[in-house]
Amino acid sequence: MRTLRNYVQDQWIEGTAPFATLHNAFTEESCAQASVNGVDVSAAMAHARKVGGSSLRNMSFAERGAMLKRMSEVIHGARDELIALAQENSGNTRGDAKFDIDGASGTLAYYASLGRKMGDNNWKLDGEQLRITRSARFVGQHIWVARRGVAVHINAFNFPAWNMCEKLACALLAGMPVYTKPATATAIVSERIVALWVEANVVPAGVVSLHCGSAGSMLDHVRSQDCVVFTGSGDTGRLIRAHEAVIAHNVPVNIEADSLNVAVLAPDVKPDSDTFWMFISDVARDMTQKAGQKCTAIRRIIIPESATEAVVEALADRLDQQILGSPYERPTTVGPLATASQKRDIQAGIAALSEHAKQVWGQNVQVPDTGYFVAPGLYLVQGGVDAPFVHEHEVFGPIATIVPCSGTAEDVIDIVAAGGGGLVASMYTNDRTWGREVILGIAPWNGRIHWGSKKVHDQSSGPGTVLPTLVHGGPGKAGGGEELGGERGLNFYWQRTALQGDRALFDKLFPSEKVE
Ligand code: NAP
Repeated sequence: MRTLRNYVQDQWIEGTAPFATLHNAFTEESCAQASVNGVDVSAAMAHARKVGGSSLRNMSFAERGAMLKRMSEVIHGARDELIALAQENSGNTRGDAKFDIDGASGTLAYYASLGRKMGDNNWKLDGEQLRITRSARFVGQHIWVARRGVAVHINAFNFPAWNMCEKLACALLAGMPVYTKPATATAIVSERIVALWVEANVVPAGVVSLHCGSAGSMLDHVRSQDCVVFTGSGDTGRLIRAHEAVIAHNVPVNIEADSLNVAVLAPDVKPDSDTFWMFISDVARDMTQKAGQKCTAIRRIIIPESATEAVVEALADRLDQQILGSPYERPTTVGPLATASQKRDIQAGIAALSEHAKQVWGQNVQVPDTGYFVAPGLYLVQGGVDAPFVHEHEVFGPIATIVPCSGTAEDVIDIVAAGGGGLVASMYTNDRTWGREVILGIAPWNGRIHWGSKKVHDQSSGPGTVLPTLVHGGPGKAGGGEELGGERGLNFYWQRTALQGDRALFDKLFPSEKVE
């Protein structure tokens, strides 16, 4: 059986027993093992800070961008190999695997081009010089510089390529070395990507370290210049925030967690209109892509009561076209879940949801005998904002629930807010007044809002795709974090310092430079 390795202090190290076992999600057979026992995590982080930090500080934004470009090209060059690994380890269909792997190379390429535009500096000014006394000579100026620690990245199981690379892209362009930990159960793709970078010699010494196994005492070693960026469940997020070393050293923590994302159909949208079908397509895609294991997937479908029959019928038609089965077969559109424990969690979630909601599609879907499959299911719950379970619990699989309501902006805002904070909300309307009111009401509860309308019905990327140009993250239940968003994604890895001194000296040493 393949043993995954850890890449620390610029060397590959195999952990020792006990090992965690990784499985093929379709056959359920063991396919790899992983362990970090025997790895000196403290020394690994110290090496990253010293050697990796120094390598990056000696590089301009443009040079870091060139490094990200090579990292992206290496992934793209091994696309088919990585797709095959994702099919094996995560149960991804070919399309789902491409979504993850192309997302990884695309995000690195985006930040590569941002680095090229940011030019030859390795610091950034924040705003203009400010007059702070009566003197015109003595001024203030804010400046951003990279923190002198290591960025510890902890990733979720569902996007072993993209989740690792979107975090790496921002940290490395900002100038911080990375100690990255994939979720153990699906670490094969992450390990292979790091190995490809090492083989192609595209990352300087100390810049990337890889931890392939459980976290164990990993966070005991973080220090004040480090930061922790986490994607995963809210429960683990809370453990990380409360970790003794994180608290003792005031280590900044960014958390991306659970989210009860909504899709809202407005009362003005008539069945069979372009906007209606845009809504139906987005919901059906989000329920089934990656077998619903997407942090941005639509979980709650809010519709006017009067549209219930039309929505159920249209969604049922779309979902009937899905083919559940082997991720290795081309026609398959929905593969298994990634792990046995995810399957158990989702089955428990479905059982709890079924106590309050009626299943309106999926009762007869047959699942293969082996593999971590769960049949997709569409549910209907009454009670609007007071409906039980649906506003509190995320069932992280191919499951969504319709919540009928009056359709007034006020009702919709209350129902969206009942989810406690989300990553993305989508709304489908051509009524500008209703749309504006809903946006202003739900924006405090969401990191991103997707407005579907007749003008963009055939041009949209859908709400479920995370784009490097726009911020990703959400308040409250979604973790309160923020990633990506172009240059905004770098801020977390920087210290902003206020300088006070001689205007002419600052003009010379830190001239303002425009980003194109
Ligand atoms: P998880 O169980 O919380 O695990 C996430 C990561 O945390 C894994 O790498 C895990 O390592 C690690 N971990 C577990 N315990 C830890 C500890 N005490 N200290 C440090 N790290 C620890 O979540 P998951 O099951 O992988 O992911 C599913 C959840 O992630 C869903 O709820 C989903 O909503 C959320 N998610 C959110 C986003 C987003 O962008 N907001 C994206 C994807 C997923 P091991 O694998 O070794 O246990």
